[in-house]
Amino acid sequence: METVLFVTSEAYPLAKTGGLGDVSGSLPRALHSLGHEARILMPAYRDTLERAEAHGKVREVAGFDIMQGRVRLLETVLPGTRVKVWLVDYPAFFDRAGNPYLAPDGQLWHDNADRFHLFARTAVEIACDRVGLNWQPTVVHCNDWQAGLVPALLSLEPTPPATVFTIHNIAYQGLFPYETFVALGLPDALWSHHALEFHGHLSFIKGGLVYADRINTVSPGYAQEIQTPLFGYGLDGLLQFRTKRLSGILNGIDTREWNPGTDPHLIQNYNSRKLDDKQVNKLDLQKGMQLSHVAELPLFGFIGRLVEQKGIDLILDAMPQLVEMPMQLVMLGTGEARFEQELSDWSERYPDRVSVTVGYDEKLAHRIEASADMFLMPSKFEPCGLNQMYSLRYGTVPVVRRVGGLADTVTDTTTETLADGTATGFTFESSDGEALLATIRRGAELYADRTAWRKLQINGMRCDHSWRRSAAGYQALYEQARRDSTPSPEVLG
Ligand code: ADP
Repeated sequence: METVLFVTSEAYPLAKTGGLGDVSGSLPRALHSLGHEARILMPAYRDTLERAEAHGKVREVAGFDIMQGRVRLLETVLPGTRVKVWLVDYPAFFDRAGNPYLAPDGQLWHDNADRFHLFARTAVEIACDRVGLNWQPTVVHCNDWQAGLVPALLSLEPTPPATVFTIHNIAYQGLFPYETFVALGLPDALWSHHALEFHGHLSFIKGGLVYADRINTVSPGYAQEIQTPLFGYGLDGLLQFRTKRLSGILNGIDTREWNPGTDPHLIQNYNSRKLDDKQVNKLDLQKGMQLSHVAELPLFGFIGRLVEQKGIDLILDAMPQLVEMPMQLVMLGTGEARFEQELSDWSERYPDRVSVTVGYDEKLAHRIEASADMFLMPSKFEPCGLNQMYSLRYGTVPVVRRVGGLADTVTDTTTETLADGTATGFTFESSDGEALLATIRRGAELYADRTAWRKLQINGMRCDHSWRRSAAGYQALYEQARRDSTPSPEVLG
């Protein structure tokens, strides 16, 4: 049995800005089902604390000094589970309105380096059983740059537990000027390009990539891609160097939260035997979004961050032709102001065809998944992607770019794949509006063939993307990490 300290900056439903929150909210529970003990360590953001208190007991279990300040450790459980959560309570850093990483004005918090440095130091104290909890993990599982300093700092300890570092998105690296490295009081030994330095800057993510016993990312495809200059964001060389320690484990989805048969957000539940009922949701959404009520028009959905990564520019490039086609588009997301504006302009010009909701809305996300006929994910890169898996489960056919986790989870529809029952969606290669448009046309064409379409939906609904399978992958990874955890010459550089 493994005892895992799961270090993350978000965990649904206590905090979530994207896929990391979903994974952190699901994987620890799946590990429990396999007989392991995973405890989540995350910051006590203001919203998080409020949510935890609303759901149940929060009690102080430790208090200790980190650098200049006193940290309180609060214990609660992940709502709806028995997974223990430790919240790092340091009000000066975490008791604020806004997002975990961004101030209300949309800018990064000015003190993110201090905040996640303190968070990492706290993780190290707990991992080394120095805070009076009488608990020590066999594995410290760190996620993304916010937890990147943990493996680096643990490497300086005489007998550290094994470490795993998961890359959920390599584009976010936690880069800060050299002065920050000095101000944080990090040991000089960590300042070299074999350690935390990245082109003269302090890189938090390198702490994970250089020092963790095992590195993984959230799909096998992305694990390969990030070792190339196109996807590696400058870290491809380091990842190639550590290739033997690097693997990919596809994320699972929370099948309780995302189940069309029981989803409380839907006006009508359905399953693969009652697929006609899906239509009720579509009509309801069309009504709610003031689109024309035409059941036969293929409805395309999009949910996600409105940023370049998600291929919003491809959708915008295709928009002049899309609005001429017999189709509708419902989009939900927040992100870059220019994308929010341009998309909203399209929905104002074609209100019966295009609906754009700027905002974050769990309920609407569920309704879109249930109502759409197809789901667009034309991402530039996609470490794993969750919405295409939700879509498969909801009988909503994904239209995706063939990258990362999208390539690993969606099988293109061809005569052969339709015949052998493996077709689940539509994929395309090149990152441009034309290719997206051509693929949307392919989808719309097949949509007219009701028998083939039903088959495609059912193929997708049969896929198993539950956490059970992925958690077994992590179990194996933890074992490997423990085997590898004696410092290797490679790491000592
Ligand atoms: P990423 O982590 O890159 O943002 P993922 O596909 O891995 O992308 O995960 C995104 C998660 O966040 C999904 O669960 C998606 O439904 C959700 N999500 C993103 N934007 C919104 C939004 N505006 N409203 C509701 N849910 C959203």
